[in-house]
Amino acid sequence: QKQNNEKSDVIFRSKLPDIYIPNHLSLHDYIFQNITEHGSKPCLINGPTGHVYTYSDVHVTSRKIATGFRNLGVNRNDVVMILLPNCPEFVLSFFAASFLGVTATAANPFYTPAEISKQAKGSNSKLIITETRYVEKVKDLGVKIVCIDDDESVMLPEGCLRFSELTKSTEVDTVEVLPDDVVALPYSSGTTGLPKGVMLTHKGLVTSVAQQVDGENPNLYFHSDDVILCVLPMFHIYALNSIMLCGLRVGAAILIMPKFEIHLLLELIQRCKITVAPIVPPIVLAIANSPETEKYDLSSIRVVKSGAAPLGKELEDAVSAKFPNAKLAQGYGMTEAGPVLAMSLGFAKEPFPVKSGACGTVVRNAEMKILDPDTRVSLSRNQPGEICIRGHQIMKGYLNNPEATAETIDKDGWLHTGDIGLIDDDDELFIVDRLKELIKYKGYQVAPAELEALLIGHQDITDVAVVGMKDVAAGEIPVAFVVKSKDSVLSEDEVKQFVSKQVVFYKRINKVFFVDSIPKAPSGKILRKDLRAKLANGLTH
Ligand code: AMP
Repeated sequence: QKQNNEKSDVIFRSKLPDIYIPNHLSLHDYIFQNITEHGSKPCLINGPTGHVYTYSDVHVTSRKIATGFRNLGVNRNDVVMILLPNCPEFVLSFFAASFLGVTATAANPFYTPAEISKQAKGSNSKLIITETRYVEKVKDLGVKIVCIDDDESVMLPEGCLRFSELTKSTEVDTVEVLPDDVVALPYSSGTTGLPKGVMLTHKGLVTSVAQQVDGENPNLYFHSDDVILCVLPMFHIYALNSIMLCGLRVGAAILIMPKFEIHLLLELIQRCKITVAPIVPPIVLAIANSPETEKYDLSSIRVVKSGAAPLGKELEDAVSAKFPNAKLAQGYGMTEAGPVLAMSLGFAKEPFPVKSGACGTVVRNAEMKILDPDTRVSLSRNQPGEICIRGHQIMKGYLNNPEATAETIDKDGWLHTGDIGLIDDDDELFIVDRLKELIKYKGYQVAPAELEALLIGHQDITDVAVVGMKDVAAGEIPVAFVVKSKDSVLSEDEVKQFVSKQVVFYKRINKVFFVDSIPKAPSGKILRKDLRAKLANGLTH
């Protein structure tokens, strides 16, 4: 039966031929493979300070920090947490971990102490690299803390170590690293439930980076003389992989911005002649709406790359209007998929035409199929169904969670995305809907199950469902359907405040609808589709 299914599957592949991928190498050996050629070139540019780290600086310093980690008792297969905004030290810490065969788990520094604690404990982090201003949030976790603040006149909080001390160590000797060792552990809720540790291996990330920038049609997006903007958060795998790792693999310079600030961004584009701008739809929107753009020379930008959430036709047109020399490329990713599943080929050596609204074609050395969500039969072109992907780039699984892993990767190795899409006659993928629970606020993940778990803990709430509501600026915003206990006078504001105290800003509940009951399937599963349909039709009571 299984074999029959497999045989009759309709499988889609890239329009480009497969390539050789050296995924027997460790991630660091692969990324720095051309270090002799690129050694003296700029690698990381600190946007706010202008400080430049060459490829040699990054290679040598991260190897020293690896020794520093080891001296602090961190060893192969241990986990370190990076709790930093975008900065060079983030990249140095990530590679230090890789050189030592250690796993890096990055978290948003704006998270509340409770959110950080869940990830630090869940991943069993041995060390946290952060800034002094965030120490308060992690000081009670009983884990060693390293602060990156450079200014030696500033006293560090008690018990913390200085990052610069680590860079005084000698370079680490080669540590044996296996292709299946986990190098990055981003957190994602996937298709259902709470955030989980996504195990991305050396082999997986090497494969994913190669799929994007190696091979016959090299540098689909990036060239070695590019200056690539990195304003998207590196704690999300999109920036870590598709900007930082891909950029370093080709020998480009990465311009690091800790946060999106439109004036500084426009000034840096002009001053540093940024050539590639990977951004997300809300940033596209902010740029499109800004009158300031007229004051700057933005002609250096040759590629605007958008991903992580849908980009409509209007925004595509707005980008073309603001960046006169830029071509627009879309990509489609999911943390568990390593993350890139599809990318547009408008930049291949022989560029293919790119259609508006498409998010590219499946990456090379991978297989994609579109499954009918009801019958589980694979569909042919132009029919929408669940997007599934198979290849060496996908996650090894969820950390300590074989059940959730088995629900996401089937026994034939297919990863089920929970996204609904179709592949057209020209192999272009269009995402049309989302089957899974996930809400995306400005590209950030919001897991309904996490908010529901908090809300059900409120004494006046007997049942609850959280879903995403369409929003122009954010894409989607979390809203809650709440069943109050009998005689309760709970107000909308009280519900909102109850949540906002416990979560990072983008997980806040934006609207509360008090209802008599939550629609559920006989199994008890919330019928989120019904709630989303209610919202779309304005029927919220
Ligand atoms: P994350 O794991 O945080 O990267 O979120 C992955 C999810 O974001 C995907 O499964 C999609 O639902 C959504 N997503 C990513 N890229 C796109 C895109 N280009 N268009 C529409 N949705 C996207």
